[in-house]
Amino acid sequence: MAAFKYDPKSLVADEFINDAEIRETLAWAEAHKNDAALVDEIIEKARPRPRPEGGCTCAGLTHREASLLLACEIPEKVERIFQVAEEIKLAFYGNRIVIFAPLYLSNYCVNGCLYCPYHLKNKTMPRRKLSQDEVRAEVVALQDMGHKRLAIESGEDPVHNPIEYILDCIKTIYSVHHKNGDIRRVNVNIAATTVENYRKLKEAGIGTYILFQETYHKESYLRLHPTGPKHDYNWHTEAMDRAMEGGIDDVGLGVLFGLELYKYEFAGLVMHAEHLEAVHGVGPHTISVPRVKRADDIDPDAFDNGISDETFAKIAACIRLAVPYTGMIVSTRETEKVRAQLLRCGVSQVSGGSRTSVGGYTEQERPHETEQFDVSDQRTLDDVVRWLMESDHVPSFCTACYRAGRTGDRFMSLCKTGQILNCCHPNALMTLAEYLVDYATPETKKVGWAMIERELAKIPKENVRRVAAENIEAIKNSDRRDFRF
Ligand code: SF4
Ligand code: SF4
Repeated sequence: MAAFKYDPKSLVADEFINDAEIRETLAWAEAHKNDAALVDEIIEKARPRPRPEGGCTCAGLTHREASLLLACEIPEKVERIFQVAEEIKLAFYGNRIVIFAPLYLSNYCVNGCLYCPYHLKNKTMPRRKLSQDEVRAEVVALQDMGHKRLAIESGEDPVHNPIEYILDCIKTIYSVHHKNGDIRRVNVNIAATTVENYRKLKEAGIGTYILFQETYHKESYLRLHPTGPKHDYNWHTEAMDRAMEGGIDDVGLGVLFGLELYKYEFAGLVMHAEHLEAVHGVGPHTISVPRVKRADDIDPDAFDNGISDETFAKIAACIRLAVPYTGMIVSTRETEKVRAQLLRCGVSQVSGGSRTSVGGYTEQERPHETEQFDVSDQRTLDDVVRWLMESDHVPSFCTACYRAGRTGDRFMSLCKTGQILNCCHPNALMTLAEYLVDYATPETKKVGWAMIERELAKIPKENVRRVAAENIEAIKNSDRRDFRF
């Protein structure tokens, strides 16, 4: 491989995700991983600090510092890393957890990804693409569950799923208003594309553009993506820069853990975040942490870099310390037990009631034939909402920032100015109230109203608290919806 020089400001993938720099980082982390004083210093740097004018701020960590914490094996220091992850989470996100659902549009795909059942050569998988009427029916089903925020997913296929098809689907999704329901934010997870297409997505009103890197290890990447346009590592890795050039401020990174050595992936992920910050002045909006799962034609045991639940939780905690302002997403790939553990490590978004097949929401029984992966957490959205509340998390369907045009670094400014409790918190409670009135089971309603009463009291500003309570009364007693701060 040609020697590239590490440069976070470069627009060339091999320079901002630099193999030599990652190897040096890992060697340095290995050499210092049990240096207790250095570990303490780094943990201390990551802790949230109050600002005299209100709110708090967090310094984050460099990829070297974060990699050292990930490598650390001193039990009490590892415990401390988990504590600080929770501290950061509580300081910036409080006890709110944002809820979303994936919506699979099409499993036609021309790529050859070895870990995904949608790969072109899988002839046992039936191929399906939703018509606009079918998109509408899926959205009605999702609204009837109570969802407000979707992530649309589609394979890459210029004939079956061109950008026009994706744009039509987005338009359809936003146009459906069934009973009191609506989808208020559509995040998009589609293949790397051109600046022009990103501009079209932005104009269509998308929330976050999500693209998983899968692996930052170039050689593995090329081997795991042997055919199709996704084989082009640089085109894929530089996609977020094109998305931002196309006007999309909110981008979501992710690694498919299990494909390569996790320490390498972790360093690459943090370097990618540093690169976005260095070039565009704003880091990733979200980071997802999926692990390879069983699916049609896919055996996770064929990938020998699987990680234990404990290591997985440590990765999540170290991400929380490294990029404190970035939302962290965990899907229903993970079991209820693992999801519960990750909530303590800084995860801020979860999916609920998910179906990972094309057209899955309109089927009575969970269909498996077009599933992208096995869903480990098969509970209904109502179960997930109640479960969150029973562990003292406020389920939030808030999409206020997107709708108010607060994109890019707005979450950071909300945090830094100490407005989280006056903004995110009432928004979470009002959207939870909508859920309780319109969709919840009696059992969930009972737990939910008690939580809203408790949590309203936490809003510091008296007038915000009063308005939030009035709005919640309006939601209870009328069809008025979509209040926000
Ligand atoms: S991961 Fe995406 S690009 Fe690869 S085969 Fe699956 S759907 Fe296609
Ligand atoms: S107000 Fe903005 S930052 Fe806060 S929860 Fe809502 S969308 Fe997120």
